[in-house]
Amino acid sequence: MSKKTTRERFDSFIVKGDQSHHCWLWVGAVGDDGYGRFWVKSEDGSQRVYRAHRYAMTEHMNRELDPDEYVLHRCDNPLCVKATGDDSTHLWLGTHALNMAERSERGRSNFQGLRFSAGEKKARADAARALRDAVKINGYDHALVQRFVRELDDGQELLF
Ligand SMILES: [Zn+2]
Repeated sequence: MSKKTTRERFDSFIVKGDQSHHCWLWVGAVGDDGYGRFWVKSEDGSQRVYRAHRYAMTEHMNRELDPDEYVLHRCDNPLCVKATGDDSTHLWLGTHALNMAERSERGRSNFQGLRFSAGEKKARADAARALRDAVKINGYDHALVQRFVRELDDGQELLF
């Protein structure tokens, strides 16, 4: 499978908001951690699964990421895969320590599976899938995205 085909396949799972503060939403598979999943077949036939936002950064950087390189969301939206070379980017490369420092500075909870109980994790994955399904059917809806992000933050029940 050529690089171009993989990239085109990746792009086919993205619904883009058209303004700079809008997200590019992943509408493919969503894992139990609430992040997107993207499968890539290597030339040797083996398959590798990426979190979609990490794959977006891999494509943007044109290299594989180190395990200690974190892809962080400025928009706090785990489904966002918007990696651009300018100020409109929502994804940026950081470290785990940077992520923690930034989160606590902003008084935000960290969207990381390990910190949540099984029930909370499931609620987040369900919410991410509900947003994905809504956007896939109706197109990009920034109000819905904002509500999703806000409610992830509050840990509230998500009903949409
Ligand atoms: Zn975003």
